[in-house]
Amino acid sequence: MKNIYGLTMKQLEDYFISIGDKKFRAVQIYEFLYKKRYNSVDKFNNIPNNIKENIKNNFSFDLIKIETKQKDKNVIKYLFRLSDNEYIESVLMYHDYGLSLCISSQIGCNMGCSFCQSGRLKKVRNLEAYEMVEQILLVEEDIKEKITHLVIMGIGEPFDNYDNVMNFIKIINNTKGINLGTRHITISTCGLVDKIRKFASEEGQVNLAISLHAPNDEIRKKIMKIANVYSISQLINAVKYYISKTNRRVTFEYILLENINDSDECAYKLAKLLKGINAYVNLIPYNETDNIEYKRTKDVQIKRFYDILKKEGITVTKRKEFGSKVDAACGQLRSNYNK
Ligand code: SAH
Repeated sequence: MKNIYGLTMKQLEDYFISIGDKKFRAVQIYEFLYKKRYNSVDKFNNIPNNIKENIKNNFSFDLIKIETKQKDKNVIKYLFRLSDNEYIESVLMYHDYGLSLCISSQIGCNMGCSFCQSGRLKKVRNLEAYEMVEQILLVEEDIKEKITHLVIMGIGEPFDNYDNVMNFIKIINNTKGINLGTRHITISTCGLVDKIRKFASEEGQVNLAISLHAPNDEIRKKIMKIANVYSISQLINAVKYYISKTNRRVTFEYILLENINDSDECAYKLAKLLKGINAYVNLIPYNETDNIEYKRTKDVQIKRFYDILKKEGITVTKRKEFGSKVDAACGQLRSNYNK
């Protein structure tokens, strides 16, 4: 049985047409599910009984469960239990510009970045669209507030679960439903070049962030397996193609790892690599984890790295840190829970 929260408006319309009902029924259902937040057919009013029966027989309304949560200043970390007893996490951050939720797109991850906790636990499976939608629903129900921004940067590689992630975005973007604007949604990828090119033709204005983390292939190969599949020049070409098609600015994420990718020379090389591209660099202080040996770059060197990029004409920001106390780095809560 399909979960009702995994259906796009189009899929729901097709379903109602297929059972000889009206297309507009889909809008009604979206409003019940996402505006009124009804979690049962029995609460649906103004729907003929035979249609209700049909919905009941065809769709599940099951929700994933909040297993536990951890709070810190301006951040709440959620661990969810799925119907097959797997765990994923979301992180809610209270920014000055709004409420941002970071969601997972897979259970585990196969990209195998050496600094990342999620990659140490291999991918179990992709998340279904409904499991991504429900992360939002449950957090909003928990805090009794609407989130304003969404980042797909939790556990998993979203472009390794491309179709489900695109359907998920369609569902939450629909104005009859959760109505989260695409400009308030960001997808982060370790750089699956073919998918970046595909993504360039999608509708909407979803933001794209690329986990670059190195100024050249030599260093990138040491920390990211995907660098053995796609070179930085292939990646940059795909990004340029994306920008030319969408006219949108891209973010390059750059984790600073002590003595690995944080030298002045790296900063100069990075600036040279990105010069002239409609992009900005988001420097990420590394969130150290128990079982990974990398060290976080010292603040003075972060500052130097930042200043060099700036001086070289690159737009650069430093990521505000949330939740290092609550295991908020990608995959940490889940992996500590699995121990
Ligand atoms: N697979 C996607 C999205 C998930 S990771 C991607 O690679 O972009 C989201 C971001 O968190 C990536 O930039 C990733 O490199 C970074 N990240 C992973 N572990 C981290 C840690 N311990 N500290 C800081 N950032 C981390």
